[in-house]
Amino acid sequence: MAKALIIGCGAVASVAIHKCVENYKVFDEICIASRTKAKCDALKAKLDGKTSTKISTAQIDAKNVEALVNLINDVKPDVVMHLALPYQNLAIMEACLRTKVNYLDTANYESEDIPQFSYKEQWALNDRFKEAGITALLGSGFDPGVTGVFTAYAMKHHFDNIETIDILDCNAGDHGYPFATNFNPEINIREVTDKGCYYENGKIIETESMEIKRVYNFPEIGNKDMYLIHHEEMESLIKNVPNLKRFRFFMTFGESYIRHLRCLENVGMTSIEPIDFHGQKIIPLQFLQAVLPDPASLGARTKGKTNIGCIFHGTKDGKPKDYYVYNVCDHEECYKEVGSQAVAYTTGVPAMIGAMMLVTNQWNLKGVRNIEEFDPDPFMEALNKFGLPWKESFNPDIVE
Ligand code: NDP
Repeated sequence: MAKALIIGCGAVASVAIHKCVENYKVFDEICIASRTKAKCDALKAKLDGKTSTKISTAQIDAKNVEALVNLINDVKPDVVMHLALPYQNLAIMEACLRTKVNYLDTANYESEDIPQFSYKEQWALNDRFKEAGITALLGSGFDPGVTGVFTAYAMKHHFDNIETIDILDCNAGDHGYPFATNFNPEINIREVTDKGCYYENGKIIETESMEIKRVYNFPEIGNKDMYLIHHEEMESLIKNVPNLKRFRFFMTFGESYIRHLRCLENVGMTSIEPIDFHGQKIIPLQFLQAVLPDPASLGARTKGKTNIGCIFHGTKDGKPKDYYVYNVCDHEECYKEVGSQAVAYTTGVPAMIGAMMLVTNQWNLKGVRNIEEFDPDPFMEALNKFGLPWKESFNPDIVE
């Protein structure tokens, strides 16, 4: 029996909260704390009476370390699940260090002023987490998250040596809007307007944003355009997979999304440089976020499926081998189950499972850890149980 403090009450947190209360035998108490307490109270009201998990709520500014320490001391959780935004990772980790409580997130740290995400600042806290005898589990969403678990699983069960990894993230969902993002618009647009990059033979090779395009025939979906982008897993997997020769990450984008994104970029709406507007400083990207649909509202209108997985190439017993492991998730099924679309679902479920691994002590390595450092087997089993079953192919189409 454990208590989780969940920070954030947006699209991803809402799914993780539904899944914690479904898993009431592990999470008998949760506290939902976010910037806007009314959202936490509304979710509590929806769930109370349907679960034996005791739910409390709180208001928190997750950038304020002192306030976080007070909240953690009040709630006394076994784990802090940080499901707000990547800007707050370091403040929440600092509060966990001061209170000696396990930490988990789904996205690596990014400063609000510089659109560059990296694990470096979080990894720098490794010795302090070890000394405190606690764990920081980094990246327990789908990608990063399940993709790291898939990699650990492939290393443990299918390969002596992995040479290449291609992560393929396909969202074939249609929400009917000409342009909307599937998770927090500000974070999403910062990610996809960044330059692309991949890893090959010991070097990181930079590309222009969406310069490299491939078409892939996704199982249960069909042919989709996908683009090579810079994604968080690269930084940890090139460190944690010995002898890796190449790592690439591809994400699908529809024509309408790309056309709108290019236009918004060209007119300066994706910029994070503050501008003067009628005597007030505003950040164009934050203004854009305010006029775009809230990702949490897309669930009711989104139809279609996601397919996210990893294609590995390497050797086993001296012979070359390919292995593709992936999950297919249906937007409408997710909405029926928890009132959210599949992008939030595929992130919120692994967040709950990661927290479960920590509080049940199935994962007990101390320090600041990426998800591929842990035993993948209990996590893979939990994916099947909690709504993200995975499939395998030993003869997949290969990305050129
Ligand atoms: P949302 O914008 O829907 O939710 C963010 C939540 O954080 C909101 O409840 C917001 O509060 C709260 N929040 C923001 N700032 C603060 C603050 N200073 N203090 C307290 N609460 C705050 O985002 P998503 O749910 O779409 O995304 C959540 C996280 O998941 C992001 O970090 C994103 O990068 C990550 N993610 C990871 C994926 C993966 O596969 N690994 C995939 C998709 C997302 P308010 O309600 O007041 O706005």
